[in-house]
Amino acid sequence: MTERKYTCIICPQGCEITVTLDGEEIVNIEGNTCQRGKTYVTEELTAPMRTLTTTVMSASGRPVPVRTSATVPKEKLFDCMKEINAVTAPKGVRRGDIIIDNVAGTGVSVVATADGE
Ligand code: SF4
Repeated sequence: MTERKYTCIICPQGCEITVTLDGEEIVNIEGNTCQRGKTYVTEELTAPMRTLTTTVMSASGRPVPVRTSATVPKEKLFDCMKEINAVTAPKGVRRGDIIIDNVAGTGVSVVATADGE
């Protein structure tokens, strides 16, 4: 049996969660205050996901903040950043505009989170 410790990042409470593993199999999860923590550590062990928050350069030369519209597989973050770094947000981009559709084949969009110039 092995133990792995996680800090849940789902809410500000930041519960310290301990997962007991028998090989690859999860045999116990404790320290989570709610079900979301259990889901979080299970996902971390099997298919970790992240919301990507970054900026895209706009046609005016100023960065526009963007984020993915949903979580993407952690292993795809580098591919997502490659695509994001290769695009320019159009002049007059508005909050909520889709900058990239289906980034890195994830089925998730990259969306502006503020107005550009
Ligand atoms: S386990 Fe629940 S209460 Fe604790 S940090 Fe995660 S989401 Fe918040």
